[in-house]
Amino acid sequence: MSGYTPMIQQYLSIKEEAKDAFLFFRLGDFYEMFFNDAIEASRELEITLTGREGGGSAKIPMCGVPYHSAENYIARLVEKGYKVAICEQVEDPAAAKGVVRREIVRIVTPGTVMETKSLESKHNNFIAAVDLAGGMIGLAACDLTTGELYVTSFPQQGEAMMDELNVYSPSEVVGSESLLKALREAAAGGAPAVLTERSSVSRERLAEQFGEAELAGLSQARLQAVGVMIGYLEDTQKRSLGHVRSIASYEPNQYMILDHYTRRNLELTETVRDRSKRGSLLWLLDRTGTSMGARLLRRWIDKPLLSSAAIGKRLDAVETLYRNLILREDIRGQLSPIYDLERLVGRVAYGNANGRDLNALKASLLRIPALMELCRDSGSAVLQELVRDADDCGDIADMIDTVLVDEPPISIREGGLIKGGYDDYLDQLREASTNGKKWLAELERQEREATGIKSIKIGFNKVFGYYLEVSKANLSMLPEGRYERKQTLANAERFVTPELKEKERLILEAEDKMVDLEYARFIELRDHIALHLHRLQRAAAMIAELDVYQSLATVSAERRYTRPKVTEGFDLSIKEGRHPVVEAMMDGTPFIANDTALSSEEQRILLITGPNMAGKSTYMRQTALICVMAQIGCFVPARSAEIPLIDRIFTRIGAADDLIGGQSTFMVEMKDIQIMTEKATPSSLVIIDELGRGTSTGEGMAIAQAVIEYAHHHIGCKALVSTHFHELAHLEESLPSLGNARMAVEESGEDVTFLRRLVPGAASTSYGIYCARLAGLPDSIIQRAYSLLEGAMHESVSSESLARVGVPALSMESRQEEQLRSTQGPFALHESASSAYKNDQYQKAENAA
Ligand code: ADP
Repeated sequence: MSGYTPMIQQYLSIKEEAKDAFLFFRLGDFYEMFFNDAIEASRELEITLTGREGGGSAKIPMCGVPYHSAENYIARLVEKGYKVAICEQVEDPAAAKGVVRREIVRIVTPGTVMETKSLESKHNNFIAAVDLAGGMIGLAACDLTTGELYVTSFPQQGEAMMDELNVYSPSEVVGSESLLKALREAAAGGAPAVLTERSSVSRERLAEQFGEAELAGLSQARLQAVGVMIGYLEDTQKRSLGHVRSIASYEPNQYMILDHYTRRNLELTETVRDRSKRGSLLWLLDRTGTSMGARLLRRWIDKPLLSSAAIGKRLDAVETLYRNLILREDIRGQLSPIYDLERLVGRVAYGNANGRDLNALKASLLRIPALMELCRDSGSAVLQELVRDADDCGDIADMIDTVLVDEPPISIREGGLIKGGYDDYLDQLREASTNGKKWLAELERQEREATGIKSIKIGFNKVFGYYLEVSKANLSMLPEGRYERKQTLANAERFVTPELKEKERLILEAEDKMVDLEYARFIELRDHIALHLHRLQRAAAMIAELDVYQSLATVSAERRYTRPKVTEGFDLSIKEGRHPVVEAMMDGTPFIANDTALSSEEQRILLITGPNMAGKSTYMRQTALICVMAQIGCFVPARSAEIPLIDRIFTRIGAADDLIGGQSTFMVEMKDIQIMTEKATPSSLVIIDELGRGTSTGEGMAIAQAVIEYAHHHIGCKALVSTHFHELAHLEESLPSLGNARMAVEESGEDVTFLRRLVPGAASTSYGIYCARLAGLPDSIIQRAYSLLEGAMHESVSSESLARVGVPALSMESRQEEQLRSTQGPFALHESASSAYKNDQYQKAENAA
């Protein structure tokens, strides 16, 4: 290191503090990177790599970005999962002896981005912290842009940590190495981007940040998780976090548990296919008017409730708004001009807020009184309660209004921010400056008259200050010695006079002072607001909640949803349920509603058979989605719905992109099923699509049967299971709580029409070749498949069941009969086992007779 220049030595010692980050090293108007950072950054950012002599034997690789456009470059690196340490000059270069002192002022990481430009406004950006104490894992999640901080804890067991982390999809996780290791292993392939080791700060430090009262009652694991978080935020942000002052502590079992696959499979917040919001439940339900509301809605969907009282409260509020279109419209009208208060508050806390931000804050606050009024007059106890002790922060809005002009510039360092009449001295300076400018205008007029040169004009530049400019053509008219020559241009000369210089001094002095004074007054205002962050956060939370209620009510009313009856019992009954998203995305064709009835008396497990494309998975998902919607407090797409509190939904729904971390589809399925056997309770809802596929028919069927029996005997949960093994229909005989159902189809001639209607009883065929034909496979393949199948049938199917030839139409009414009948057409397929099953049915029918 000794061979390097002092500046490079300084660079290297600062780089030691930020080994895992790109170091943006401020040099004048640029942030420069050196050595490996430069090589990698030039590649990631596609900027030119150069070199610089630094005293070493070879040139040092270097690249840089202009400081004024640094934000974009930082955002790009952070989006790719990197950290960026920003190193500034912390003394005036003019005053510095030797190398200017430099320090890292902040480390931007994926979980601590404050620059809202790089963040989705409708999406929280969470950073999570995990730590271990006495067998319990504490987990804290913070959105630094809004100041929200949640904490919980749970035993260190199985998938609990992953499940809880999934709620937040954090962009970064910090914590003890052992837990991070577990995370890396558990989430092979799907791991949160950035993991950093960090231990907890002391309790004293936490008390400084939050106050003892806020910490009271937090278990050791929770304290430590918060401690890890605060430690990391301090290390990286290097400033006080005035907006992170309250801790929302909760129990994991306050909420429905949804594992990662289930969230994805049910497409709660993004679609499986392209991970877009469009087509997700969130997309459907999001009619929020504010960013805070949109983020809160997402959190509600991520965490359905498990308390019927709390759900009832939300439903009450939604119902009031559902029934009152005018109220809803009025509220929406007041909400739509409200800016992102939470993030504005974050910017105030960070000292990043400019004049426009404060005016946005004011404009937002001014809407609160009307919103409160609407809630008070709504007739809803819940909405009244919401605003009972609410604070409209009117004093803050007033103060901003008194101090700040209506249209301030983006910069806070160039004046033009403070209203006249607010500060006497500022007013005086302004007057001096205005008078000075009037004097200039007068001088210009006088000189034109005195010299007869009409084109004399007064101008200003940074180097020479104010001057009188005379064009070359008119120079001859200017009396010698009238002005002092200052600058010669190609076609003009610039002059000054002693008086002009004197006025210039006064004007510039006044302007300098004005800019400084305006800046000081602005900072005073911002600091004053920073004393009230907590009040503003509460107001923002109130607005967000109201916004979510109106959003749910708006969708529910427009789509004619009904209020679900949420019960503490077991039985689930949905009449004429619809899949909310499939219905919303349909182009004109009506969605066919179906009932779902799962009860302890009749059937808890429904085994659904039917051809591909008949609507099985749509039906199963719709049942799960209706439960989720009910438990977030939304109305549901059904004629009526009675929903028992579901503690957990498991789904095993095959998707094309199942190949995670090199595991086979079948292995993934078995792993999910294993988790289900371990975690499901009688209050859980289990959904398995195409159970047992992905291995040989014999084995698949055997496993499917064993799994169903296990769920039936040992778990006692509600379950919807679809299978293409219609042979499994016989389970109905041995499992009293299992019922068969199928998606009805109508066959006529060579065509199959999907009726999309769920009817009791098992399907007799899976129509595989028919589907192949629908998919457009060449005719020769289709014909060949039929003849192969026919061959197989002749070998294994009894002549009796082949006796019936023809194409029976499968109507609901004929289902009883149809069960006893074998169907056979060019596309109605028999397999030996199903025929055996039907023969068995014949036998039973005969015995009964
Ligand atoms: P399966 O799981 O039986 O293969 P899907 O549930 O994927 O079938 O349904 C296939 C398609 O049928 C869906 O994409 C949807 O467009 C349509 N569909 C399913 N259920 C209904 C319904 N109840 N009403 C109208 N269309 C439906």
